[in-house]
Amino acid sequence: MTPVPPVPPMRPILLTDLPIRDDLRGRSPYGAPQIDVPVRLNTNENPYPPSAGLVADLAEAVRRDAGELNRYPDRDAMALREDLAAYLGHGLSARQVWAANGSNEVLQQILQAFGGPGRSALGFEPSYSMHPIITTGASTRWISGAREDDFGLDPGKAVAAIEEHRPDIVFLTSPNNPTGTALTMDVVQRVVEAAPGMVVVDEAYFEFARTGTPSALRLLPGNPRLIVTRTMSKAFAMAGTRLGYLAADPAVIEALLLVRLPYHLSTLTQAAARVAVAHRDELLGTVDRLRAERDDCVRRLREHGLSVADSDANFVLFGRFRDRHAVWEALLEHGVLIREVGPPEWLRVSVGTAQEMAAFHEALSAVLAVSDVIPASGRPGRDEPEESA
Ligand SMILES: *Cc1c(COP(=O)(O)O)cnc(C)c1O
Repeated sequence: MTPVPPVPPMRPILLTDLPIRDDLRGRSPYGAPQIDVPVRLNTNENPYPPSAGLVADLAEAVRRDAGELNRYPDRDAMALREDLAAYLGHGLSARQVWAANGSNEVLQQILQAFGGPGRSALGFEPSYSMHPIITTGASTRWISGAREDDFGLDPGKAVAAIEEHRPDIVFLTSPNNPTGTALTMDVVQRVVEAAPGMVVVDEAYFEFARTGTPSALRLLPGNPRLIVTRTMSKAFAMAGTRLGYLAADPAVIEALLLVRLPYHLSTLTQAAARVAVAHRDELLGTVDRLRAERDDCVRRLREHGLSVADSDANFVLFGRFRDRHAVWEALLEHGVLIREVGPPEWLRVSVGTAQEMAAFHEALSAVLAVSDVIPASGRPGRDEPEESA
C-alpha cells in the first residue's frame, strides 16, 4: 500500500489523500452526464412514463406493503422470481431466476462469486462500459477483446481470444451497447463451448431486437456455466425501480447467495417490480413504436451520408466525426443531449418519442449544415473504445 502523506491544514481533502485501494487510484467513475435539457437521449431509457393505471396499482402495492416495513423483505424474493420466470418462458422456474437492484448489481454479484483477485474477465469492445468497471471494482483483471469492423463477433476469433487468455468470465452483450449489434446463437454456443469459466450474455436490450432474434435463454439447458442477464431499465420502462435479473442453472444462484447482501432487494422494490411484470403488456407495448422510430432514425442518419451501425436496440451509433465532442456540444446548444461513447469518432443517440426524434434530427441537420465536423472519411472502423463511457 502507498503510504498516505500527512494532509496540510486548510485545504480540501482529495481522493488521493485517502488510503484508497492502489488499483482504484486514477480511475474514473461511470458518468453519463445528467444535464437538464428539453430532449434527453443519452441513457437509453424508455421515454414513455407509466400510465395512470399503472401508477395507481404501484401506489396500492406500496400502501399494502407499507404496513409491514418494520420487517425485513423476503430475502429470496420468491414471488417476484416466479413472476419473472413466467415472463421469460423457456420453461424456466423461479429456482433458475435471480433478481437484484439493477442488472449492474446482478453483474457485480457474478463478479464477486466467480471473479476476484488472480482471476480475469474478457469482453469484446466496444461494449458496455460498466463491464470493465464492475470487473476491476471486484479486483478482477479486465481483458479487452475486439469486435469486427461491423461491430459483430467472428466466432473463430472469439474462440481464439478465449483460448489465449483462459478468462474466468466472458461477457457477451447482445444486442450490444453502444453499437446495437445482436449476436447469433452460433457465436454464443461456440463461446460457451470454448470458455473455461462462466459466460454472461447481457441481454439488457433483448426486447428491442428485430423479430426472430433468438435469446441465449434457449441455450441454458445443458450449459450450467451460462448466465443470461436482463433488466427492467430499458424496454420495461422502469429504470427508476432498479430491478435487474438473470436466468441460469440453480447452482449459479446458490453461488450468488454466498456474496449477496442479506435483504438486498427492498420490500418496495419487489412490490414495484411485481406490479411492472403484471403490467408487462402495457409497458412493452411501447417497444414496437420505439423500434419503428429506431429504424426511421437509422434511415435518416444514412441520408445525411453518415456511417450508421445496424441496431437491434433502442439507440443508434453513428459517425464518423473528426471532432465528435464538437458535434455533441453543438447538439446540446440546441437542447438535445446525446452520448459521447464508443469508438472515438462515433456518437450514440437513444430513441425517444416521435417529437424528441424530430427535435434531434432538426438539431443535427442544423449542426451539420454550419460546421465542418462532417464525417471523417473512411469505412466504419473499430477504434480503441473510450475508457469511461
Ligand atoms: C443499461 C444497461 C444495463 C442495465 O443496467 P441496470 O443496472 O439494470 O439499469 C445492463 N447492461 C447493459 C449492456 C446496459 O446497456
